[in-house]
Amino acid sequence: MKEKTDMIVIGAGSAGRYAARAAATLGKMVTLVEKGPFGGLCILKGCMPSKALLKPAHVYHMMKHRLEPLGLGIDGTPRVDVPAIVRMKNAMIREMAEDARKVVEQTQGVTLRTGNFRFTGTNAGMLDGAPILFDKAVIATGSRIHLPAIAGLEADWMITSDDVLEMERLPSSTLVLGGGPVGLELGQYLSCLGSDVTLVDTNMNWHPHTDPEIAREYLGALASRGMTIHLGIRNERFGIQEGKPFFQFQSGGKNHTVSFEKVLVATGRRPDTSMLDLQAAQVHTTKHGQVQVDQFLRTSNHNIFAAGDVTGILPVLNLATFHGEMAGRNAALPEPVPVREPVVPVAIFTDPEYARAGLTETQASMRRVPVITGRISFSDLGKAIVYRETEGGLKIIAHAKTREILGVEIFGAGASDLVHTLTAAMHFHATIDQYQEMLHIHPTFSEIFKYLVDDMTGSL
Ligand SMILES: Cc1cc2nc3c(=O)[nH]c(=O)nc-3n(C[C@H](O)[C@H](O)[C@H](O)COP(=O)(O)OP(=O)(O)OC[C@H]3O[C@@H](n4cnc5c(N)ncnc54)[C@H](O)[C@@H]3O)c2cc1C
Repeated sequence: MKEKTDMIVIGAGSAGRYAARAAATLGKMVTLVEKGPFGGLCILKGCMPSKALLKPAHVYHMMKHRLEPLGLGIDGTPRVDVPAIVRMKNAMIREMAEDARKVVEQTQGVTLRTGNFRFTGTNAGMLDGAPILFDKAVIATGSRIHLPAIAGLEADWMITSDDVLEMERLPSSTLVLGGGPVGLELGQYLSCLGSDVTLVDTNMNWHPHTDPEIAREYLGALASRGMTIHLGIRNERFGIQEGKPFFQFQSGGKNHTVSFEKVLVATGRRPDTSMLDLQAAQVHTTKHGQVQVDQFLRTSNHNIFAAGDVTGILPVLNLATFHGEMAGRNAALPEPVPVREPVVPVAIFTDPEYARAGLTETQASMRRVPVITGRISFSDLGKAIVYRETEGGLKIIAHAKTREILGVEIFGAGASDLVHTLTAAMHFHATIDQYQEMLHIHPTFSEIFKYLVDDMTGSL
C-alpha cells in the first residue's frame, strides 16, 4: 500500500520548518522531507556562519586600525588564527543545527524524513524511491549558488560563498564579482583579515532603489576600511600574463587591471527546483525557475503552496520564516487567507552596517506616493560622538499628506538593530507626529530617530 500523509513539506530549512510547525499546530499530520544535511542555508552556509566569521574580522580590523581615537594601542601585532575562527564557527553551526533538529523532532504531528523528494503527479511523489501520496504540499527547497558563464574565468580561480566559509588559508588577493550583501560581507571578511580585495559590479547604482547619497557614503566607508569598489564596470575580460591571472575593465572613464589569486563569484542564487519535477505536479515557474505564488502563497496547483527563497520574492530569512508559517497555515486551512504584505527590514552586516525597511524615496516616487523626507548624520548625535562612531547617517520618508512613516534607510554602527525601532512604527502605521511623542533614552543611538523626527515635525 502507498504511504499517505496529510501534508508534505519539501525542504527542512527555515521556511520548511515554520510551515511544518504551523500546519501541525492546526492538527495536520505533516511529513517534513530533507535531503540533507539538516539545518538549511541560514544555519549551515548563510546568515549564521557568515556572521560568525565577520565578528572576529571586525574586531581584528578595529585592533589594528581604530584604537587610537579611543586612546588605546597595542604593543606588538595582533594575531589571526583563521583555522581557529573556522573551527569555532563550525562548532556553533553544528550546535544550532542540532538544536533545530531537536525542535522538529519534538513537534507533535511532524515526522522528519531524510531523502530526496520529487513529484510524480498532482498529489503524489517519490521519497527516495518509495511512492508517497499527499493532500497538500509546501515547496520550501530554497536556492543554490548560480555560477554565470563568464568568458575567460577559469574554474580553479573561482570560489563561492560556501568556499569562503570553509577556507583556512585566505587568498592574498581576491576579486569579488557582485556588490550584493554576500559579496560585501564576505569581501569585507577577507579584506579585514589581510586579503587585497577588489569588488566590482556591472550596475552603475549600487542598488537601484537606495538613496544615492547614503549609498555613496556607505560604500565610501567600506572603501576606507580597505576594499576597493568599482561600480558600473564595462568591457571586462579575464586574462593570464606570465602565468598570473588578471581582470581588466573600464570604470569611471578609466581602464583598470587587477591581478588576483581567487575570484569570489557572488552574483546571486537561483531557486532549487531542478530535482522536483514540478511539471508532474502542474506547478508553474518563471524562466529563472522561481515557483510562482499568488496572494495565498498557492502555486498554480492549488493544493501545493511555496515559501522561502524558492519563490524568488526576497531571499532573506525573516520573509522565509513568515511566508513559511503562512504557507503552512494556508495549506492546513479549509479556505486559505490572503497573506498580508509585511514591512521587511533587511541589513548588510559589514562594518559599518547598512539597513533598510519600508519604501525608499525612489520606490515611493515610482508608485506616485507623495512624500516628505528627513536626513541626519550620526555626527550630530551625542552618543555617536562620545563613542567615536560618527560615521553614518539615515533618512526617513513619510507620506506627505497622512504623515505616516513609510520608510527608513540607515548606515552606521548597529544599523541592523536600530532599524527595528522604525520597523515597529511602520508595522503599527505610526505617523511622524505620533513618533515624535515617544521618549527615547539619552544617550542612545536610537535617539537619532527622535532628533530627526523632531526636525521633520518642526518640534525642535
Ligand atoms: C552567505 C549568505 C549569507 C546570508 N546572510 C543572511 C542574513 O544575514 N540575513 C538574512 O535574512 N538572510 C541571509 N541569507 C539568506 C538566507 O539564508 C535565506 O534567505 C534563507 O535561509 C532561505 O531559507 P529557505 O527555507 O527558503 O531555504 P533553505 O534554508 O535553503 O532550505 C531549503 C532546504 O530544502 C532542502 N531541499 C532542496 N531540495 C530538496 C528535495 N528535492 N528534497 C528534499 N529536500 C530538499 C535543502 O537541503 C535545504 O535544507 C544569506 C545567504 C547566504 C548565502
